[in-house]
Amino acid sequence: MEKVKNLVVGAGLSGAVIAERIASQLQEPVLVIDRREHVAGNIYDSKHSTGITVHRYGPHIFHTDNKRIWDYLSAFTSWHYFFLKVHAWVDNRYVTLPFNLNTLHQAFPEYLALRLEEKLVNEYGYGVQVPVMKLLRQKDEDLQFLARYAYEKIFEQYTLKQWGISPQEMNEEVMARVPISVSRDDGYFHDKYQAIPAQGYTRMVENMLHNPLISVRLKTPFEKIKNDIEYQRLFYTGSIDEFFDYKFGELPYRSLRFDIEQKNMEYYQPSAVTNYPNNFDFTRICEHKYFLNEKIASTVISVEFPQEFKRGENEPYYPVSHPASEALYRQYAREAEKLPGTHFLGRLGGYKYCNMDQAVSAALDLFEKIRPAD
Ligand code: FAD
Ligand code: UDP
Repeated sequence: MEKVKNLVVGAGLSGAVIAERIASQLQEPVLVIDRREHVAGNIYDSKHSTGITVHRYGPHIFHTDNKRIWDYLSAFTSWHYFFLKVHAWVDNRYVTLPFNLNTLHQAFPEYLALRLEEKLVNEYGYGVQVPVMKLLRQKDEDLQFLARYAYEKIFEQYTLKQWGISPQEMNEEVMARVPISVSRDDGYFHDKYQAIPAQGYTRMVENMLHNPLISVRLKTPFEKIKNDIEYQRLFYTGSIDEFFDYKFGELPYRSLRFDIEQKNMEYYQPSAVTNYPNNFDFTRICEHKYFLNEKIASTVISVEFPQEFKRGENEPYYPVSHPASEALYRQYAREAEKLPGTHFLGRLGGYKYCNMDQAVSAALDLFEKIRPAD
C-alpha cells in the first residue's frame, strides 16, 4: 500500500493552487494525479503546428477585480493584457456583444436606436448592466420591444443549444453573466484585471507545480489507484457524484465538442470570439491567434458544439444549475462533510459554474481553512 501525506485529484487550476500552497507554505509532500495526459485541466493550451497557441477546451480569458488573486497568479506568470471583444452573428451581420448602446445602432434605424438609447439611460443610468430577464419584465413598450428583440435574437436559441433548456427555465444568474449594457463600452468583461498568461496557461500551471515536494502522475484515474493508496488529506477536484459512485443519482452537466480547424487566411473573423445564437448547431467560433496577438500567415479556429454529457464519452464542462440539481448536490455535500480530511473543490468538486478567479479564490480559502494554527 502506497502512503502519501496529501493527494490531489485533478491537475487543473484548483488542484494546482492547493498543491502549490501545501508544498510552498507547509513544506509537505503532495501527489497530484490526473486522468488526462496533460496538466492544467480545462485551461490547457498548446502550440498548434502553425505556431498559434490554441486553447484546447475553449476560449479562456483571465479576468478579476480581486487584487489578491491577480497578485497570487502573477508569481507564476507574466501577463499579456487582453480585453475580449465578442461579436454575435445576427441576421447575416456582426453585432457587438454584450448588447450595448452601440449594438442598438447596428441593429435598428437611427431614429429608433436614439429613442431606445434615451429610454435605457433615463431608466437605468449610463454604465449600468441590466440582465435581459429583468429587462423583459419592463412595462414600457419600447423597452419591452428591445427586451424581446435581444431575447429572441441573442439569448433564446443560444441558451437552448447550450443548455438544452430555455432561458425561462435557466438559473437567472447564468443568464445575467451577459447582461444588456447601458454604455458604449464594447468590452465583454468589466474587471480591473484582464489578461492571458504570456507563455500560456499550461506553462503557468507547470510553474505552480514546479516544486520538489510536488509529484505529478498523469493518465492516472483516481478509481484505478484508490484502493492501493493511503492518504492523510485528499483534495478532490473531479465530479462529486462520481466520487460517491452516484449513490443519490447523477448530477446534470453539459458537455461540448470543439472542432479545431486551420484556415489559410490571415484572419477568419473580426475578434477572438463570435457567437452564433441562431441557425447553426454550434454556439461560438473562437480564433486563437488573437489571444496572444500572434502574427502568423494562417489562422486556427475552434467551433463549439454543445452536447448532452454522457459518462465515459465526453467531458462534464458545465454544472447545470436548477433547484433539483442544487438539492441533489447538497445531498452529496452533506455526505462529504462526514469524511474528515477529504475536501471537494473546483468546478466539478463544488458543482459550481465558476470562472478561473473564483476557482483560485476558493482553493486559497480552503488552504487557509486547513492550514494548521502556528
Ligand atoms: P478542471 O479544469 O475541470 O480540472 C479538473 C481536473 O480533474 C481535470 O483535468 C480532470 O481530468 C481531472 N479529474 C477529474 N476527475 C478525475 C478522477 N476521477 N481522477 C483523476 N483526475 C480527474 N473561466 C474564466 O475565468 N474565463 C474564461 O474565459 C473561461 N472560459 C471557459 C470556457 C469554457 C468552454 C469552459 C468549459 C470553462 C471556462 N472557464 C473560464 C472556466 C474555467 O475553465 C474553470 O474555472 C477552471 O478550469 C476550473 O478549474 P478546475 O481545476 O476546478 O477544473
Ligand atoms: N448567452 C446567450 N447568448 C450569447 C451569449 C450568452 O444566450 O450570445 C447566455 C447562454 O445561456 C450562456 C450564458 O448566457 O450559457 C453565459 O454566457 P457566457 O458567455 O458567460 O458563457 P461561457 O463563456 O461561460 O460559456
